[in-house]
Amino acid sequence: MTTVNAQTAPGTVLGYPRIGPFRELKRATEAFWAGRSDATALRETAARLRRDTWTGLRDAGLGQVPGNTFSFYDHVLDTALAVGAVPKRFAGITDPLERLFAMARGREGAPACEMTKWFDTNYHYLVPELGPDTRLAPTDRKALEEFKEALRVGVTTRPVLVGPVTFLLLSKPAEDAPEGFTPLDLLGPLVEVYRDLLAELAEAGVDWVQLDEPAFAADRTPEEIAALRKAYDRLASAQSRPKILVANYFGELGPALPVLARTGVEGIALDLVAGRSDLDGIEGVEGLDRKLLLAGVVDGRNVWRTDLDAALETAQRLQGVAGRVEVSTSCSLLHVPYDLSVETNLPADVVDMLAFARQKVDEVVLLGRALAEGRDAVAEELDAARATRERVAAASRRKEEVRSRLAELGPDHYHRSAGDIRAKVQREALGLPEVPTTTIGSFPQTGAIRKDRAAHRKGEITEAEYDERMRQEIVRVLKLQEDIGLDVLVHGEPERNDMVQYFAENLDGFATTELGWVQSYGSRCVRPPILHSDVTRPSPITVDWATFAQSQSGKHVKGMLTGPVTILAWSFVRDDQPLADTARQVGLALRGEVEDLEAAGITIIQIDEPALRELLPLHERDRAAYIDWAVDSFRMCAGDVADSTQIHTHLCYSEFGEVVGAIDGLDADVTTVEAARSRMEVLGELGPGVPRGLGPGIYDVHSPEVPGEGELEDQLRAALAFIGPDRLWANPDCGLKTRGEPETVAALENLVAAARTVRDEVSATTTG
Ligand code: GLN
Ligand code: ZN
Repeated sequence: MTTVNAQTAPGTVLGYPRIGPFRELKRATEAFWAGRSDATALRETAARLRRDTWTGLRDAGLGQVPGNTFSFYDHVLDTALAVGAVPKRFAGITDPLERLFAMARGREGAPACEMTKWFDTNYHYLVPELGPDTRLAPTDRKALEEFKEALRVGVTTRPVLVGPVTFLLLSKPAEDAPEGFTPLDLLGPLVEVYRDLLAELAEAGVDWVQLDEPAFAADRTPEEIAALRKAYDRLASAQSRPKILVANYFGELGPALPVLARTGVEGIALDLVAGRSDLDGIEGVEGLDRKLLLAGVVDGRNVWRTDLDAALETAQRLQGVAGRVEVSTSCSLLHVPYDLSVETNLPADVVDMLAFARQKVDEVVLLGRALAEGRDAVAEELDAARATRERVAAASRRKEEVRSRLAELGPDHYHRSAGDIRAKVQREALGLPEVPTTTIGSFPQTGAIRKDRAAHRKGEITEAEYDERMRQEIVRVLKLQEDIGLDVLVHGEPERNDMVQYFAENLDGFATTELGWVQSYGSRCVRPPILHSDVTRPSPITVDWATFAQSQSGKHVKGMLTGPVTILAWSFVRDDQPLADTARQVGLALRGEVEDLEAAGITIIQIDEPALRELLPLHERDRAAYIDWAVDSFRMCAGDVADSTQIHTHLCYSEFGEVVGAIDGLDADVTTVEAARSRMEVLGELGPGVPRGLGPGIYDVHSPEVPGEGELEDQLRAALAFIGPDRLWANPDCGLKTRGEPETVAALENLVAAARTVRDEVSATTTG
């Protein structure tokens, strides 16, 4: 292959965004789903995006371009389809695209595959379902087809597939699988399928294939590591196959590294950002001298410019160890936005800090040249990059007043009086009934609200007009709740586009992008704010809205905030200081907001932490420290409020496991969680573990179905088996933002009726 770019250097990236620089794939996919366009149009958009990615990466100078990084929905789903792991309920669908979307989104009588988080990222994959009778076989040839398609535009790609062991470790047993079956039981047959797929790729001229095994960045048992050895010994022994690159990312390979190094695979990609500790003792790892090592020194997970000098040094160190070294990203660039250069509103000093996917490719190419041709070949570029980094380091990232105020906060600022004392004071101060009813915060975001927000953004309506419309909406939603008969009201959050972005826009130290979209799942994209400097709160954020809402009702209206951990989890966070320090700064800003809300007469304040579990480190050994700072940053928000002020928190999931202790540590007066789908099972763990008010969601807000009154009563009775009526709250599972209004009103009416019935039952037993 002849290269078109004189600057081409050995080096690669492990993957690339696929949604399109302007979210073209999202638009095309949603148009197809809605029946506004056909499969041909969707396939055309997809083909254009693939071609632009391949040629773009080649023209940028990458020595090797990854292939098969495109996906209509999710690459784990694609792998399931490639090996024939189709759950029975979808087996009858013959059209491949239809079947793919049915597995992703469900259809009449065939619920979608479960979706869950891709390691500790904000990307979500579809969980493959396997049973002993799953007939694994090479099924669709997406990787092969895309390889050929790229060849036709003159680019030789390195097809990427999820590796067989990670695939199995991410799978779950099919519903009808017998007790005792685990997906790893299928390792033997699955590896044979991979051998067949690799043989086909080799025949088509594939030189290298990349098999991703990020599961080994998490804690793994000796049996699982043995499975890795077995799989790659077998794959490497195949007669006809491309060279194999095994890629690990999101952490270190640790004990799996020497095991992999002894197999016959030709290359290993190391994450030297999150998994830097793989460098320790790497000189002693046997077998690496015969391999290609990809030095993942450019962070694929975050948006910061690389320290090129340090990255180069790391890569050079590996040169003494490996047969050959090339530069790469630490993981796929799927997790960062496409291109910094299209942003028009970012301050210049912030731009200097950043590198998005396109810029990271340039960094890889530059480092690749330095590695191959010697540092002097690119001395000028390296000097310029260093100067930019130094300029940024000197810029206003630090705000001394934040640091000194944090230093002044002692442990007593994190501690309230004992929970039972507060409960007693609050019982008197708030005058709530037993089993009080409430909602999680947002109300249905009507078309009118979205239109107003868009008009406001475009400057079509004035700030005052916009405020006025939002106030009208708040009044309307409060009236709705009073008519329904709820006990503790919310203002409905109409003024918030997104619960994190809203705070990022109102705090200093954050930047927001115009086109910095990142795929969250399927066609859903998010635009994470960028937390780049010390965080401060220039002025109160929610206080006017909250006091206005409270002035419109005789009932308590909750003040509503997003907690520090969630703000961090859903942003790109600076990496020049520990996450814990940044969390404390956000906590300090929110602490000011809590104080102001309390001073303004708000008696119940909710601080949402739906992402508390998301940030839990992959390794057990790191978890206690994480929980410590996560809990501290939350507690400091409300550490000084009066006993009579009731602090609520909301968590967005129902599997608590390791975070039960952390939830208790938050020390909120009331914790609302998801529980409806598990029929209150979570209370077995939470009831004893979190000894204060609990609101297990009694209906699932993800479905438009209106729960019946009887069903809701049963949920409350089930909850009462675990905790007393003095601790139980009645509420939905989560915010109501994405629901329609009629079904919301009907559901809440039933919820209120159910709470009243159960309340009467309880008082009848206690008095009678
Ligand atoms: N208060 C937020 C809402 O109701 C909480 C959302 C969430 O848990 N993700 O929308
Ligand atoms: Zn929630």
